[in-house]
Amino acid sequence: MKIKELNAELLKIMPANITFEWDNVGLLIGDGKAEIGKVLLTLDVTSKAVDKAIKEKCNLILSHHPLIFGKIDRINNPLYLKLIRAGIDVICMHTNLDSIKSGVNRILAEKLGLSKLSFISSEGGNKVYWCKVFIPSDYFNDLKVAVTDAGGGLYERYDACYVSHEVQGSFNPNEDATPAIGYPGAIELVDEMELQFRVDKANLNRVISAIKAVHPYETPVYHFYEITDDNINYGSGMVGDLASEITLEDFARLVKDKLQAPFVKLWTAGKSSSMIKRVSVCGGSGSFLINKASAISDVIVTGDVTYHTMLDSSLPIIDAGHFYTENPVLEYLSEIIKQYDIQYFKLTPQEHEISNLKLI
Ligand SMILES: [Zn+2]
Ligand SMILES: [Zn+2]
Repeated sequence: MKIKELNAELLKIMPANITFEWDNVGLLIGDGKAEIGKVLLTLDVTSKAVDKAIKEKCNLILSHHPLIFGKIDRINNPLYLKLIRAGIDVICMHTNLDSIKSGVNRILAEKLGLSKLSFISSEGGNKVYWCKVFIPSDYFNDLKVAVTDAGGGLYERYDACYVSHEVQGSFNPNEDATPAIGYPGAIELVDEMELQFRVDKANLNRVISAIKAVHPYETPVYHFYEITDDNINYGSGMVGDLASEITLEDFARLVKDKLQAPFVKLWTAGKSSSMIKRVSVCGGSGSFLINKASAISDVIVTGDVTYHTMLDSSLPIIDAGHFYTENPVLEYLSEIIKQYDIQYFKLTPQEHEISNLKLI
């Protein structure tokens, strides 16, 4: 398998167009033309990660956090140069991996023993659209098949979800038109069907191409607009239930233990002895979800929580650190690449720069 083929497979699972606009994902270094030799999995492309990749003779690094952000006007960053000179390509899967159901937060939630998982919020890079198509009745079934194949009409575990009804379309082709039905200068009445359905941004371009491919009109009649819904296919954070109730402090110890974090910070919100059953998680920096999480859970597990955010929170918070709440995602990435019989190494926490962080 070539590196660019693995990149394409990963982007099918975690589409690039559900990333946040400021993000940068995909094949960030290299042309991906080489066959994959060995792969290094890491949360970050740091200097220790690059040295390990060179030592293990890897020709690909697959990381969560992007190596490159923003505009580059010269390539003199020593890390980029080292990678390029060593012939190591770099693939990064970031907020797309955060936002899919099977990604960062699912792994984190399962590690903590949570079940019955759902997203905390539809906040994410994904947008959802409502689409309407008007098409002559004879083409209606073909349209539905094409839209379904392109990923339109998805509602969680249901596909081919449509609303449709018969309508009468009318139009007057201008002199320079070449209409599929009718003649320039004569008003035409056509028995049409209107098809309405929901579509994720990740599938929108494919759906539009499918509509254009099936639609007989010179100017296919369709439009779409952004809607808000629970955005069930992609989202931020996850909430789920513990198998049984546990005290807040015991749960904080469990989090430290399961994530193998050297320490966690527990913000009790004055509820030290309260029992915990429903837990929100957000790998990395989840402060933006605390308000939503407080309405639906007993505690949130995340990282990067600042002093004032803690003081303001009536929801208990377990801050286990950005690294320790996200590093479990390497297990998911290794599950994916194992399917292709690719040899890989995971950068351990001891080999990662995080080992320089000491609790004194
Ligand atoms: Zn993340
Ligand atoms: Zn992160």
